[in-house]
Amino acid sequence: MKDDVIGDYLRELLKKLQDNSEGEVAAYIPELAAADPEPFAVAFCTNEGQVYAEGLREGDAEREFTIQSLSKPFAYALALKEEGLEEVARFVGVEPSGEAFNELSLDKATKRPMNPMINAGAITVNQLINGEESSVEDRVNKILEFFSDLAGRQLRIDSDTCDSELETSDRNMSLAYMLRSYGMIQDSAEDAIVSYVKQCSIMVTVSDLAMMAATLANGGVQPRTHKQVCSRRVAIQVQAVMASAGMYNAAGRWMASVGLPAKSGVSGGIIGTLPGRLGIAAFSPKLDEAGNSVRAKRVFEYLDRDMGLHLMAPEKQGRVAVRSISTVEDDQTSGGSQGKRTVIRLQGDIDFNACEKIWRTIQEHDFESENVTVDLEKVDEVNSVGKRMIGEFRDRLVRNGMKIEIVDPDEVLS
Ligand code: GLU
Repeated sequence: MKDDVIGDYLRELLKKLQDNSEGEVAAYIPELAAADPEPFAVAFCTNEGQVYAEGLREGDAEREFTIQSLSKPFAYALALKEEGLEEVARFVGVEPSGEAFNELSLDKATKRPMNPMINAGAITVNQLINGEESSVEDRVNKILEFFSDLAGRQLRIDSDTCDSELETSDRNMSLAYMLRSYGMIQDSAEDAIVSYVKQCSIMVTVSDLAMMAATLANGGVQPRTHKQVCSRRVAIQVQAVMASAGMYNAAGRWMASVGLPAKSGVSGGIIGTLPGRLGIAAFSPKLDEAGNSVRAKRVFEYLDRDMGLHLMAPEKQGRVAVRSISTVEDDQTSGGSQGKRTVIRLQGDIDFNACEKIWRTIQEHDFESENVTVDLEKVDEVNSVGKRMIGEFRDRLVRNGMKIEIVDPDEVLS
């Protein structure tokens, strides 16, 4: 049977929003100003590497556009991977700036850029990649290869957009001079901006972006190629900074309304991650006054409403962890209380909350025998806290004189 329920939903969504023609395309890069304002596409990638991509018009879903500021979280990931969290933190902070993306601002005390999602921070991060001595070419190649690993295919740079942006880079040049004056970057201002603008000119589709975002959501493992592209710790760090500073000076409003780590860029893309589950990308070039794509933003708002993505509104836990607790006749032992056995049957996913409930139930129970069976047959999964806590429960029951038998046919504890 071939019936694309998710594709149909995404196509419906694009159609619902197609009449929204608000906003303006970014005008400060001539090549972007001349771009078709109409493309509209959305994609998401699951933690199993399944990609769903749809476009409003023929070709929209496969359309390539320059990554622009959506490169910032991924370049930050590469710098963290190469230099480590502490070293990178010497050059760029993790606090939201609340200012426009290209503001000439630095942390007053440390002179570091406030975060890697604004231009001052992104130019600094770009310079950390491949070491101080790197040529522009080697640095850019390193970035291109890393982004290609994240996307799971070879990406390329669009030299027309790059050249076009380099002709209108006065603001970014002034940022580079400012960063140089405080010793935050070592290259000439010109080289630093060429390197940064090339990073911004890497071409991607919504599917590429969904997969790149899904790699972050998946703890650094590319969900299709299974390559560990960056460490889990790096993936967490990047998404945390996206959550607080990814949406220009609308980051607070975004977190309150949509509630996902996200990043947007002037070419009209927005990416979001649902940690552990999904990478999402939407694209349409017209931007609102904060620089975020109007239609892409609406896509995220709808997805959030329909799929319940908001991190602060997790689904309620479905099943209680203790399925039953009962006393049965025990044929392995004989006579008096020796002939009885308490059977504790657990079920569902065992995490911290489940364990708290399990322990409370155990303590309230009147044990008729020291023989106890903990039956995990109906348990789906035990997370790392769950495993530690079940081990602790077993030790404590033994210390209280119980004889414990654990039935774990599917080896959920191992
Ligand atoms: N290349 C652009 C710049 O630095 C990226 C800006 C953006 O996407 O926000 O001006």
